[in-house]
Formats: sequence, C-alpha cells, structure tokens
Amino acid sequence: MAGYVRREYPEWSWSFSRQQLLAGCPRRYYYNYYGSHNGWERGAPKEAALAYRLKKLSNLYLVLGDALHKSAYRMVERIREGRPLPEADVVEEEIRRQLRRVWKSSRDELELFIRRPNRVDMLQEFYYQMEIREDTLAKINGRIKQVSVGLAASDVWAELTAPDAEIVASEQFDTFPIDGTPVYAVPDLLYRTGDNVWKIVDWKTGEEVEDNRDQVALYALYVQNKHGVSASRISARLEYLSLKTSQQLTFSTEDLQKVEEGAKASMEEMRRLLLDPERNVPRAKEAFALTEQRGLCPWCNFYELCREELELSVS
Ligand code: SF4
Repeated sequence: MAGYVRREYPEWSWSFSRQQLLAGCPRRYYYNYYGSHNGWERGAPKEAALAYRLKKLSNLYLVLGDALHKSAYRMVERIREGRPLPEADVVEEEIRRQLRRVWKSSRDELELFIRRPNRVDMLQEFYYQMEIREDTLAKINGRIKQVSVGLAASDVWAELTAPDAEIVASEQFDTFPIDGTPVYAVPDLLYRTGDNVWKIVDWKTGEEVEDNRDQVALYALYVQNKHGVSASRISARLEYLSLKTSQQLTFSTEDLQKVEEGAKASMEEMRRLLLDPERNVPRAKEAFALTEQRGLCPWCNFYELCREELELSVS
C-alpha cells in the first residue's frame, strides 16, 4: 500500500461520534478504536482481524444515510458547476441504486467479505442472518421517498445559488486542535452568504434527537476556531428530511466555550482508559465495560465478539 506507515497503536484524536460511542458502550468503543487496529494486516491476531471485519459492517439505515449524503454532495457539485439540480425522482433513484448495490453484495459476497472486509459492502442484517421484517422494509422504502423529496425541495439550494453565496466546504474531512488533540469536524455543508454569515447544514434522515444539536454546535466551534469567524456570524441548520422539519441554531461565544469544555472533559474521560496517553496505548479490554443496555447488543456490529461474555454474564 503506497504511503502506508505501520503504527503499533492508533493515532489519538477526538470526534463527536467517538464521544457518542463511548457513552453508548465502552467495549464497543474499545473494539472500534483499539481492538480492530491493524486487524487489516495479513497475519493479524484473530481477535483484531475479527474486530476489523465487524467494524466494516453497515446496516440499512446507515446505507440510506450514506446514500442521501452522496446525493446532497452531488447537488452541491452541480451548483458549483452551474448545472441544474435534479428532481426528487432522480435523487430517489440514486439512493435506491446504492441500496440495491449494497443489498446485492450482502446477499452474494459473504465469503469475499470474510476474507477481504474492505473490498465489499456488507449489511449486518445479512452477516448475522437477522430476519428483515416486511415493516422494516416498508419503513425504509417510505423514508427513501421522503428524504428524496425533502432534499430536492430544501430551501438551502435557493440560498446557495444566490450570486453572492460562496460554498466553503461540502462533506470535507477536516480537523482543528483543542489542547493539542486533533478534533474531527465534517459538516455536511458549509457556506457563506452575501451578508457574511457562515451557515452550517446537517442533513438528517432520522428522528430529532438532542445529540444532533450538540454535534452542529461542535461544527460551529470548528468554524470559529479554524476560519476565525465570531460566534454571532455563524448559524446552523438541522434539516430533518423525512420529517419535513428543520431547526435553525445560533450561538453565543459562551455557548461555544461550553462546547469546548465539554470536548475537553470527554478527552479526559477517554485518556483515563489509556495505559500510556503519550502513545495512545489502551488499558486491557476488560477495563472497557460491556454496556448495561443489553437490549442493544443484538443490533451491534461487534456482537460476535461479545456473545460468549454476554451469555456468561447472565448465567
Ligand atoms: S455487543 Fe453489546 S456489549 Fe458488546 S460491544 Fe456491542 S453493545 Fe457493547
């Protein structure tokens, strides 16, 4: 692999999703960020190889979210190129095409996925041979239509095509430092209007949850710190496409200070789970507790790794 530099331990960084994962289940956090590290290597320890494979699993809702974000990205690119935007039915077909592709590889390519998990998409519903109920499929089908209509009809496009609007970033990975730790921030869309307001857009395919507000507040902190924009000139928009609702958020300097303090407290909590914070060496797996919310486990990627321990803990 060109440019590949082997690291014994993963690089230390922080992100909102990392914080969410730790809050949901410390063991899942361990497998995702530590236990699967180097699991892609030929001759990797069995557990690391399995953790890496399981980390690669997706599910129907994640694939829908990913497909929607790809369509939104393509729409932004069309605006950059001065091309017309597609109608809702074209967006819907793009999303359906991606879901069909992932469904087909999940159904037909299990053997390849087991050997080369980074080569093929796999739904955990197929990997774990879970029953995919008719009502789940009906819900996903309904949601594809709703989010396609919602995306095509979004008010964002009119603002973005205004002559004085400037697209700053779309689905672009970036980091900014907090106390020397690289913090990941990937706003779905960031643009600047003619009156110099920086706008963050986050497309959502699911329900309204409090975490979403915290996530875009972190993006606002990123805009402030990375682009040197004052909090009063930043606004964020959460677009719940399947619900046909949106939330507009503004921030004060104090709000963003609190976001930064929250991120630092979360980093501290993560560092307490390390043997050597300098090299990001984790404590033993057992220091990362299994979640108390056991009802979530059958829907977790890493269930195969935990199954025995979970069974022992209830017997
Ligand atoms: S199966 Fe349960 S305990 Fe194991 S990592 Fe997943 S959520 Fe945590």
